[in-house]
Amino acid sequence: MAVETVASTLGTSADFGPAVALSCRECGERVPLGPVFACEVCFGPLEVAYEFSSGDTGDPESLRKQIEAGPNNIWRYAPLLPVPADVASKPNLNPGFTKLVKADRLARELGITGGLHIKDDSGNPTHSFKDRVVAIAVEAARNFGLTTLSCSSTGNLAGAVGAAAVRAGFRSCVFIPHDLEAGKVVMAAVYGQDVVGIEGTYDDVNRFCSELIGDPIGESWGFTNVNLRPYYGEGSKTLAYEICEQLGWRLPDNLIIPIASGSQLTKIDKGLQELIKLGLVEEKPYRIYGAQAEGCSPVSTAFKAGHDVVRPVKPNTIAKSLAIGNPADGPYVLDIARRTGGAVEDVNDDQVIGAIKLLARTEGIFAETAGGVTIGVLKKLVETGQLDPAAETVAINTGDGLKTLDAVAPTTHPSAIIRPTLDSFREAGLA
Ligand SMILES: *Cc1c(COP(=O)(O)O)cnc(C)c1O
Ligand SMILES: [Zn+2]
Repeated sequence: MAVETVASTLGTSADFGPAVALSCRECGERVPLGPVFACEVCFGPLEVAYEFSSGDTGDPESLRKQIEAGPNNIWRYAPLLPVPADVASKPNLNPGFTKLVKADRLARELGITGGLHIKDDSGNPTHSFKDRVVAIAVEAARNFGLTTLSCSSTGNLAGAVGAAAVRAGFRSCVFIPHDLEAGKVVMAAVYGQDVVGIEGTYDDVNRFCSELIGDPIGESWGFTNVNLRPYYGEGSKTLAYEICEQLGWRLPDNLIIPIASGSQLTKIDKGLQELIKLGLVEEKPYRIYGAQAEGCSPVSTAFKAGHDVVRPVKPNTIAKSLAIGNPADGPYVLDIARRTGGAVEDVNDDQVIGAIKLLARTEGIFAETAGGVTIGVLKKLVETGQLDPAAETVAINTGDGLKTLDAVAPTTHPSAIIRPTLDSFREAGLA
């Protein structure tokens, strides 16, 4: 009994399911699973390495059945994530399994003939894709015995951390740029956590958080996207899993993914590669396209210039959730776009607003500005011949339009204001 207690306080009760180590994406150095994110040898980013128990050992069909029998949230993919098998029984927001919407009207409008789906992640508990990544980071924090959840956020992450912390029983304190949209600030503060606005850009906020981790203050803190970043990133793989499962266990031809730090895009690619390796989908070529706002387009600029390095920029765009001027995963995004034959493209703020409205009026989906960036880029890719309209495409809407009402409010009005009479309605010319 006493021995067991000591063992669990030392962390040996930690359970990461099929995950066996962290490995460096640059030099391959392996380290034990821990709240660390950079390689001690080369400073490269660490990512979760697995030993999967089926699939590559020969039985994809039973793994598919196991997944299909799981809960209607990301935990159906627990066998592919750094979480214990009984994760679904722990208090968590249980995000995921959002709708994959067949977007025929939008496809027609854009001239896409090969099929178009919108993966609508606005349906998550705090209305953005960030609930996926936070859910995995929470389990890691639990495993490491950390007591405060935190993050540097462009808005959506702060809300996702606040809600998840309440549910899972952590204290939380998050850091945001001081000038975020009102909707994002409210969504972060309403859960009762400490929200700290920092006078600076997201990149300043992120630097500050790195300093805090090194300070005794931050000792028992889990920063979802900093010291827990390897686990956090794995949450994005579930988008790849869900899209393929919802298509009937097959790969689409094209994926359009918005880029802030680039984590989501790189982990979706990782998820697709795992599905292929495990035999859960048949291997075929797919193209990954990244979407940025022109006012914060360091990755798209590097892609177009043929550069391997991403030069940091100072963001200036209405797409604040994507406003990371120095994206950590930028170089990996370039690799993936080039390797798969995709591209990275950007659109300006007017095109973002136009695309939000286009998606709303064709598919009944109201996206936040990041979704406007994604759909705007999809439109531009078709118009410029960079995307084959005869191929099957999936675009990801990562957030809810109610969070960024300010972006569309100035150009979105009632059709008429009338007196409550039939005559007045007739006069308005809408009958
Ligand atoms: C965070 C975020 C993204 C993408 O973030 P990455 O840092 O590239 O993983 C996309 N859309 C929305 C709405 C977000 O909040
Ligand atoms: Zn390394």
